Formats: sequence, C-alpha cells, structure tokens
Amino acid sequence: MKPFVYSANPARVIFGTGTIAKLPEEVKRLGLSRPLVLSTPEQSGHATKVEELLKSAGISCVGQFNGATMHTPADVTEKALAVVQAGNVDGVISIGGGSTIGLGKAIALRTDLPQIVLPTTYAGSEMTPIIGQTENGVKTTQITPKVLPEVVIYDVDFTMTLPVGLSATSGINAIAHSVEALYAQNGNPVIDLMAAEGVRALATSLPKIVSNSSDPDARSDALYGAWLCGSCLGLVGMSLHHKLCHVLGGTFNLPHAETHTIVLPHAVAFNAPCIPDALANLAKALDNDDAVDGLNVLLSKLNVKKGLKEIGMPEDGIDKAADLAVKNQYWNPRPIEREGVRELIRRAWAGEPAR
Ligand code: NAD
Repeated sequence: MKPFVYSANPARVIFGTGTIAKLPEEVKRLGLSRPLVLSTPEQSGHATKVEELLKSAGISCVGQFNGATMHTPADVTEKALAVVQAGNVDGVISIGGGSTIGLGKAIALRTDLPQIVLPTTYAGSEMTPIIGQTENGVKTTQITPKVLPEVVIYDVDFTMTLPVGLSATSGINAIAHSVEALYAQNGNPVIDLMAAEGVRALATSLPKIVSNSSDPDARSDALYGAWLCGSCLGLVGMSLHHKLCHVLGGTFNLPHAETHTIVLPHAVAFNAPCIPDALANLAKALDNDDAVDGLNVLLSKLNVKKGLKEIGMPEDGIDKAADLAVKNQYWNPRPIEREGVRELIRRAWAGEPAR
C-alpha cells in the first residue's frame, strides 16, 4: 500500500426521514436563541416549515432571508448580513442546495456564526470547507474550516420535491466529486471506500428516481450517496474535471450541475490512460466492465442533455476554453496539453459519446 495522510473534517451528521424533528434539539444544543432561516425564493415554503417547527418547540426565529441565489453574489451576502446585524442573529439555518448553503457559508466566513444545514439537493456543499463567491462577475474560491457547518441534518422528506432533472444532474455532480477523489493526488484508502460507495449508491438510485421521483428508498439512497460524495470533495483535491467545469461555468455562464454532468465522462476518458486503479474501482461501483462506458450508460438512463452546445456554450468557445484550461496549470493525473484538452471540450460541446 502507498503511504498516505488522512485528515478528517469535523462533522455532525444526522441522517434519515423525518429528521427535521431533531432540529429544535440541535438548535438548543448549539445554544441558539435567535436563528435566521436561509433559502432561495423558490424554497420559502421549506423555510416556513422550519420556522414553524422551531416556533412549536418554543424557539423564536429572527425570521427568514429568502434571497439566496447561484454563485453567492457579494451583494446578496451584504443584504443578508444587514438582516443578521439588525436582528442580532446568533446562528443560521440553511435549507436548500449549494446556492443557499453558499450564502450560509458566506455569512459564517464574515461572522463566525454557527450553521445548521438541511441539504435538499445532492451537490454536497454542506460537507466541504470550500466557498465560492462572486463579485463584479468574478468568482473566487477559498478553502477555510470557518465555513464548515456545525450540524448537517439530511432529511429525505425535503428531497422529494427536487425536480427529476435537477435530481439527475446534481446527483452526477456528486458522483464527479467521488470520481476525482478516486484519483486525487492526496487520496487515501478511506476516501476510496467512501467514493466507491457514494458512486454505487447514486448510480443505482438516480435511474429509479427518474422513473419514479416519489420512490422513498431511491431518494434515501441518493441522499446517502450525496453525503459520501460531498465528504470526498471536502477531504481531497480535485483535478481536471472540476477545474474545467469551473472555467466553462464562469466563462460562458453555464448551469453548474448540467455542466458537470456533460463533462464528467469526457474528463474520465481523457485521464483514463493514467488512472488504472481508479478506473477499476469506478467500473466496479458502476457495475460495468468499463468505467467510461458505465458513465455513458448511466447518463443515457437519466435523459440528461449530452452536449454543452445544448446549454448555451457557443462553438467559438471551444478554443477559448482550451486556452484557459492549459493556462492555469494544476495537478492532474495526465498532463494537460492543449490538443488533447481541446478535443475533450469539442466532444463535450458536440454531445458525442466519451471514449
Ligand atoms: P441550487 O442550490 O442552485 O438549487 C437550484 C434550484 O433548485 C433552486 O431554485 C433551489 O431553490 C431549487 N431546489 C433545491 N432543492 C430543492 C428541492 N428539494 N425541491 C424543490 N426545489 C429545490 O443547486 P445546487 O446544484 O445544489 O447548487 C449549485 C451551487 O452550489 C453552485 O453555485 C455551486 O458552485 C455550488 N456548490 C458548491 C460546493 C462547495 O463545496 N462549495 C459544492 C457543490 C456545489
């Protein structure tokens, strides 16, 4: 076995169905008496359920801030901070996907307030010390334990309303975290176990959700897989796939989860010659003889878009993205040379099968 370093992030995770019932206990355990509930405008109904539950347990919230939006823009964070200060808030409760969780992290970064997170997608931000923020159109990412939530409550009930399309793409976004963890430079055997199990759980449950979005067992398995994959993202470094999605999303304003979904098989195919052990692990988790084929088959079962051209990337963006991909060098199992990465991007743009 290769030598390795394993460092875990502190985490308190409560998992199950109906686990929101544990929220008042967790609020009291953290000593909060003036929490603020965060959500997107679309999920204000979920935020109201949280507020009502706390009220019935004798905890009065300062209220709700329902302005969370994609990419954690600085002006939204400023508005939320004004509510935090005016209400003398002593903790935030984020209910939603990566966008709402990002806002909670942005508040924690500036105030050190504790966060309780109820994730409702599979993107995995709740398990990471990573925060991406946007100011003047520029997205910057930093890694700091200050943004790690104090408590994560996974309640399957809140994922039942996640639309099928977003279930599929945010599930593949989660799988991408595990895939890159399997070949991470700072990977280790514990991460490999979590990553393979996360892929297996999502790859078996997502097709079931696509055919019946109300299947509680499939929803539960998917959320369990999302937790494992999110943990992997929080513990080891990511490579070409994540960097490329960051470049593509930022440069062409593409939707986050769909971009990950389209790029993933192509990034794995590009790295394939240099990651034999990771490919074997991934193939096994996907129950296929070949990892890239396993991803192609999974995506075809999920009825997701296959080409970046379908989600708004212009054809002349292929060269621009290839230039940016080689410009910002970072560790990747296969050296990133322009011709190879351009072909990867071209295939992903056109929606050709990865190979
Ligand atoms: P999202 O949070 O942007 O949610 C998309 C939409 O779906 C929103 O309108 C939301 O309200 C709605 N929604 C979410 N859950 C729902 C549910 N259960 N029922 C009904 N509607 C629901 O989507 P996302 O993919 O979770 O997050 C994407 C963002 O998260 C990106 O900005 C990405 O950069 C970030 N992210 C960050 C990390 C990290 O570690 N920092 C990890 C993954 C993603």
